[in-house]
Amino acid sequence: MIPPGDVSTIRRLVLEHTPCLKARVGPALTNNFGVVLGEDVLADGDMPALPTSRMDGYALRATDVVLHRVLEIAGTTRAGDHRGQPLPAGMCHKITTGAALPENADCVIPVEDTRTVDGGIEIIAAHCTDHRFIRFPGEEFRQGQVLVPAGTVLGPVEYGLLALAGRTAALQYDAPRVAVLSTGNEIVEPGMRPGQHQVRNSNGPMLMAQLCRAGALPRFLGIAPDSEASLRSLIREGLWHNVLVISGGISAGDRDLVPSVLESEGARILAHGVSMRPGKPFLFATHPCGPIIFGLPGNPVSAFTCMELFVRPAIESMRGLQAPAEKQWQKAPLATDFSWKGDRPFYPPMRLDSKGLLHPTHLSGSADLRSIAGCNVLARLAPQGMLHAGDPVDIAILE
Ligand code: AMP
Ligand code: MG
Repeated sequence: MIPPGDVSTIRRLVLEHTPCLKARVGPALTNNFGVVLGEDVLADGDMPALPTSRMDGYALRATDVVLHRVLEIAGTTRAGDHRGQPLPAGMCHKITTGAALPENADCVIPVEDTRTVDGGIEIIAAHCTDHRFIRFPGEEFRQGQVLVPAGTVLGPVEYGLLALAGRTAALQYDAPRVAVLSTGNEIVEPGMRPGQHQVRNSNGPMLMAQLCRAGALPRFLGIAPDSEASLRSLIREGLWHNVLVISGGISAGDRDLVPSVLESEGARILAHGVSMRPGKPFLFATHPCGPIIFGLPGNPVSAFTCMELFVRPAIESMRGLQAPAEKQWQKAPLATDFSWKGDRPFYPPMRLDSKGLLHPTHLSGSADLRSIAGCNVLARLAPQGMLHAGDPVDIAILE
């Protein structure tokens, strides 16, 4: 019998036994949201490569910017044109946003500060003698500089930066493949009308959605009745994935057969029981063939909480994110007074509003899934206590 551990010890244990998945070269697909980069992506040139105009206007020498002076136009460069001839003294060069300045020009005067006159332009506002309208070579980045470091979650800006580095493919981590198994003689498919002695499988879809949110690729294996034979066959199938998540069947009832079937299939149970509420029966195991296995309590709120506290950090670590468990906790003030009971640390889901205030929900029990609808954080509280509105509480953001 494994004595119950505290939450942070078990989170550490889970991460210690979570294998790293290999990063593979894949296309930089912009719909692949949340993918983690497996290499530093470097700039292959300076940005910009030449002094470049930020404005439509005229390139010239700053010393020629004199109010009402008329300057002849020596040439024109538009974005995409090769750099023009060096600028002769006392003349200007027509230029568009994104075009390279000719040599000798050290200033851009916007078109609004000029007037077209016979033979050239007249300067009608002379306040831009500085370099503010020029992007200098390497100003944004230099060749060899890291544009997107390994371990970055790829989002819109990063996909743009990969393109600037000329990368249409990059090393990236695969999403972990996760099998989800619901157990229980009383559990029926959501599409069925349950008898009064039965319950629809709410954990399956909920856990699948949580896994998707965590960046995994989940697959639902089905509902196993509480018999050794059916558990064994679905557990065997689940062991072909990176992670197996099982809901129900891990407590102390005589039909809670998951731990014994797991062991008989070669799994090594490293944790069984955690000192928290809800979620006490939680189980974690490894298997010599590679997968890690989570047994979540069947009660929906407990399954939800254990998924966020223990499975999610493992998924994030497998996806290539650094130290996922450590950075998770932050503080938020309570919106109302709150008291709670129990002799174990309490991890209730709560709602953080747009003003940053924390709203506890009334939990009638860990079977009451509806009571946590709209919750977007998990709070961390000591065993029984009382806090006042405004008191800070540790929270982990779930979205
Ligand atoms: P267990 O952990 O198997 O003892 O189940 C604890 C409670 O959770 C029981 O009341 C079950 O009916 C309920 N339960 C178990 N699995 C599910 C599920 N997949 N969906 C909804 N409720 C469940
Ligand atoms: Mg059960």
